[in-house]
Amino acid sequence: ALPEVDEEELERRRRIDPYRGVWVFVEQNDGEPARVSWELMGSGRQLADSLDVELFAVIIGSNVGHLAQEAFCYGADCAYVLDQPVFARYRTEPYLEAMCYLVDKYKPEVVLMGATGMGRDLAGAVATRVKTGLTADCTGLGIDDKRNLMQTRPAFGGNIMATIMCDKFRPQMATVRPHVMPLPERNPAATGLVLPEGFDISEAAIFSRVLEVITDKSGKDRVDVAGAEFIVSGGRGLMAKENFAILEELAGELGAVVGGSRSAVDAGWLPPDRQVGQTGKTVRPKIYIACGISGAIQHLVGMQDSDVIIAINRDPEAPIFEVATFGIVGDLFDVVPALTMRIREL
Ligand code: FAD
Repeated sequence: ALPEVDEEELERRRRIDPYRGVWVFVEQNDGEPARVSWELMGSGRQLADSLDVELFAVIIGSNVGHLAQEAFCYGADCAYVLDQPVFARYRTEPYLEAMCYLVDKYKPEVVLMGATGMGRDLAGAVATRVKTGLTADCTGLGIDDKRNLMQTRPAFGGNIMATIMCDKFRPQMATVRPHVMPLPERNPAATGLVLPEGFDISEAAIFSRVLEVITDKSGKDRVDVAGAEFIVSGGRGLMAKENFAILEELAGELGAVVGGSRSAVDAGWLPPDRQVGQTGKTVRPKIYIACGISGAIQHLVGMQDSDVIIAINRDPEAPIFEVATFGIVGDLFDVVPALTMRIREL
């Protein structure tokens, strides 16, 4: 006798089977792509290979045709390009309509976006409209043996890493923060298939208008911890704001940026945009020097993918040593100035 038919399972298959392909939404501003889109292209490539499907770049904007070639260089096989003046500046409504049009028409299995202001806004709106799940701020992505996207992210205040799956609905949607995934190598000789889409939406159908764009002028002076190649970070062990001067000195020698733990930021020793960790920035520098930082899980999730981690802590049991490439057990007020002096001598 044939095994009994599980109606629920049949229904699930009917619903999800038409969906194929991995999509990466290519975020851009004035035709300038966001780096996170190419980082996601690297993850998308791996997912597409595991699923044995094609990787698509979704490019929405005005005068953005050149981004298709760039997407191929970072691993895309094909690019849907929606190039219309109405998409010139990001607004939720036209981008939402465009994405939903594409999802309904082509049924992707996986959709990835950067966890940026734009990506967070758009991903949530699309997931709600197409009635599927969305996992925000993923730190790891993989595929299980049933073609489900395994979306790993910190949960319960970072105390556990949860793997979340959306096995009943498609597409499976995830956002990933900038710098969480490595930038794949760019292959300038790569080619792909451009798929222009004629979708249009009239300005009259959109409620929002961009009246003025004000650029943040402090931007050029602002320190970018997330993009830094070298970071010297301080925690509660620094004891006071003025003590960060010794970290600034070391950073000056290395051409590094000074960051810190949440404790340091909460104490007012550093501005909030320097915070590294779950509720701060995710960093991936070549060298991360952690001074007087214990290594709480919420801090580790933001920096553990750094190439080299040097930890300075007087407590040999501090959890930071578990992720450190090199550990120095000692008083940071002795070690840091000695290190600065030694580098100066080189
Ligand atoms: P502590 O844990 O107090 O560690 C200080 C360390 O300095 C100790 O290990 C001590 O041995 C060492 N030390 C002291 N004096 C010296 C000395 N003279 N020389 C050498 N070593 C010395 N934290 C973040 O960092 N980033 C986040 O984004 C973040 N998000 C959070 C989100 C949530 C929801 C929650 C609940 C917490 C979050 N936290 C975050 C806080 C986190 O749990 C820790 O409390 C915090 O990271 C601890 O900071 P710290 O390591 O500087 O301080």
